[in-house]
Amino acid sequence: MNTNEYKDILVFAEVQNLKPAENSLELLGEANRLRNELGDNTRVLAAVLGSNISPVVESLFRFGADVVISFVDDKLAEYRSDLYGEALTRIIEKYKPAIVLIGATFTGSELAPTVAAKLKTGLAAHCTELKINDEGNMVQVVPAFGGKVLGDILTPNHRPQMATVKAGITQKIESRDFTGTIEDFQCDLTGFGDRIKITGRQTELAKGKPLHESECIIGGGFGIGNKENWTLLEELATLLNGATGCTRPALDEGWSQDEHAMIGTSGVAVRPKIYINAGISGAAHHTCGIKDAGVIISINKDANAPIFEVSDYKIVSDWKKIVEAVVTKLK
Ligand SMILES: Cc1cc2nc3c(=O)[nH]c(=O)nc-3n(C[C@H](O)[C@H](O)[C@H](O)COP(=O)(O)OP(=O)(O)OC[C@H]3O[C@@H](n4cnc5c(N)ncnc54)[C@H](O)[C@@H]3O)c2cc1C
Repeated sequence: MNTNEYKDILVFAEVQNLKPAENSLELLGEANRLRNELGDNTRVLAAVLGSNISPVVESLFRFGADVVISFVDDKLAEYRSDLYGEALTRIIEKYKPAIVLIGATFTGSELAPTVAAKLKTGLAAHCTELKINDEGNMVQVVPAFGGKVLGDILTPNHRPQMATVKAGITQKIESRDFTGTIEDFQCDLTGFGDRIKITGRQTELAKGKPLHESECIIGGGFGIGNKENWTLLEELATLLNGATGCTRPALDEGWSQDEHAMIGTSGVAVRPKIYINAGISGAAHHTCGIKDAGVIISINKDANAPIFEVSDYKIVSDWKKIVEAVVTKLK
């Protein structure tokens, strides 16, 4: 493969409820940062697929796309992996980007490997950092062993270099001065998307604020003990105009019912101004999701809990006594 034929950075612009996904906007910011490392003649392309994409195009320019590749087709109204996989593959074959960035959302986590397999190229999933090395290759940093080891993944011999990144890891850049052009794309999708028929749609409303919009997050772990206790954390979050986040066990127990609220390697990375947590031991799988948080206040009855190693304020106590007292005081 002649890797020199490939340039530019393409971001898959996911559409959620007729709006661009936050994660995609963050990736446009990251693509602009990487473009500075690669050189100014690198363009940032945003590929957007759907049956009605006009509401999102302006935002894609405002958040840093030079070119919006628009593929409008009634068949693309609903995401299906084979359909979107084929459409995005055909776009990549035409535009030959050196780098493709896809959000590690539910859709992106399925779409990215589908496309990488079709293109027979490499994909690094859930990257926590992206940078360009001296050879002009993208270094894709991925945590392993619960965040204790950071691995540098390279795709030196194949193109494009593909990475997925979770929400909250990279940052948006917004400017009304950004401008760009729209290019329409079409290809024949006959035979794709026909095996799954969508018969209905049920939307589960998330409780409270999304984590990435919250300046204050109250995190709870297995030490919270039961569902009834969990409501006390939710009450504290409401009083502080914040949101609740959780660890894997608290989600598995069903105390937190929002799977988007799990923080860590397999959940989301967050960067609130304040992270107050209770009953969390501090496993690396969890703490790698709070490394960019501002002040961390931890409550744990075990003075040797690893969470205290990453905390600014440490409260060795039964969490309930502390949280009940704070809730009473705030009320
Ligand atoms: C591949 C993989 C990916 C993973 N991804 C994630 C992830 O994304 N996010 C995640 O969170 N986990 C993840 N995990 C799980 C992770 O390894 C830990 O098991 C988990 O984070 C521990 O959750 P916890 O701190 O709530 O529970 P525990 O480790 O059981 O800790 C409970 C803590 O509560 C304290 N406690 C108990 N009672 C009280 C009390 N009354 N008052 C105060 N403190 C009390 C205890 O002292 C203890 O420190 C992953 C694991 C694997 C293998």
